[in-house]
Amino acid sequence: MTEEINVRAPFYHVARVQCRCWRCGKATSVFAIALPPEHETLIGDGAHGRQDPETESWQCPGVRAWIFHIEYLPLEVRRRLRVMAPLFRRKHSRTTAGAYWTNHCAHCGASQGDYFLHCEPDVAFMPMSAQAAAPIRLERVDQPIGAYACGQAQDPPFFEALSGL
Ligand SMILES: [Zn+2]
Repeated sequence: MTEEINVRAPFYHVARVQCRCWRCGKATSVFAIALPPEHETLIGDGAHGRQDPETESWQCPGVRAWIFHIEYLPLEVRRRLRVMAPLFRRKHSRTTAGAYWTNHCAHCGASQGDYFLHCEPDVAFMPMSAQAAAPIRLERVDQPIGAYACGQAQDPPFFEALSGL
């Protein structure tokens, strides 16, 4: 497992919301990681193993962000997630020979892909109204985080409507 990171923050939030499993249709909790405006992202990095120290630099966009399609998390964060979000765990990918974090249904174990939780309007972690955002509960973890996340949603709408911020 690579320990390369492309995003980091002095603290983070674990978000939880109920959603319906695509396979068994039952309600199950799904989890995600949100970063505060103090987070920094690595700009100018290439694909895995092709980083160019000449052009890359850490930048602070100054906005909140969701991270998803996560391929690396440090041990302390993994330990914390095991307790706070046991259904959000590492899954090995047959196609890339790597691993990534994904939610699993509490009832049937089906993987709830990040694409369908983050990347479409009105899905679990992409609410399109304050009303849709309110059921999402955030819990702050006062611990630094460094991650390799292939997906980042900077400045997501209705974030201030989330519970527990
Ligand atoms: Zn299910």
